Amino acid sequence: PLKQLIVVTPTYNRAFQAYFLHRLGQVLRLVKPPLVWIVVEEKTVSLETAEILRKTGVMYWHVVSTRNSSHVKDRGVHQRNAALEHIERHKLDGIVFFADDDNVYTLGLFESLRTISRFGTWPVAMLERSKNKAILEGAVCNVSQVIGWHTNEKSKRLRRFHVDMSGFAFNSTILWDPKRWGRPFSNPIHQLDTVKEGFQETTFIEQIVEDESQMEGIPPGCSRIMNWHLHLDTGALVYPKGWQLQKNLEVT
Ligand code: UDP
Repeated sequence: PLKQLIVVTPTYNRAFQAYFLHRLGQVLRLVKPPLVWIVVEEKTVSLETAEILRKTGVMYWHVVSTRNSSHVKDRGVHQRNAALEHIERHKLDGIVFFADDDNVYTLGLFESLRTISRFGTWPVAMLERSKNKAILEGAVCNVSQVIGWHTNEKSKRLRRFHVDMSGFAFNSTILWDPKRWGRPFSNPIHQLDTVKEGFQETTFIEQIVEDESQMEGIPPGCSRIMNWHLHLDTGALVYPKGWQLQKNLEVT
């Protein structure tokens, strides 16, 4: 039997959210089951999101993160925590992958996730925010051994691991078997609450693996781009005259 994939997506109401969720949902629909999509919103479940999820035909959980984090811009941290709690509570067995809603994913990525036994990572292609330059972030590998990191952003050089949020995945057993890694940890992601931007991923990963020797680079050689992080800025969109953005999802 194929290994279950547990895809975690934090999302929030904004322009293009419908586009992002439709696009991701349609890729997930093409992935061979078993796959479960955990979509997490903040504070309330939106009916618009629920409708999109219903129509995708993907098996999903629509979860709300109730913790109030309105005073900090946490970029989905509480939502990812809520998903991890959900996975723990229901003892969902599978490969956990944080798929941000705005990224572009190949089908091959999801096939590769199934080759992970404990912790897998790979390089992600992205656009540098300011310069419109394509860059890579993530593992450099010798076959499946991680031997270095691609990184370009100066501000982030101090990170231990140069991995994008959608550039790693891990076996859910890690969440309820702390001894597996030879050192106990408290609920890992919760410690992310105070982590500054750009350090979320490394802070999380440092809590579940000791070093590169415990990582599996995928696919062998890490020489294929399987997803893109484009930072599509939809903050200041202008709409056709007379059209309205209803609840930040669909334009009518
Ligand atoms: N996100 C969210 N609430 C927020 C900010 C971000 O749910 O207040 C989600 C967003 O939908 C996406 C992920 O967190 O799935 C990453 O957000 P974003 O793309 O803004 O971060 P970036 O990729 O630019 O670092």
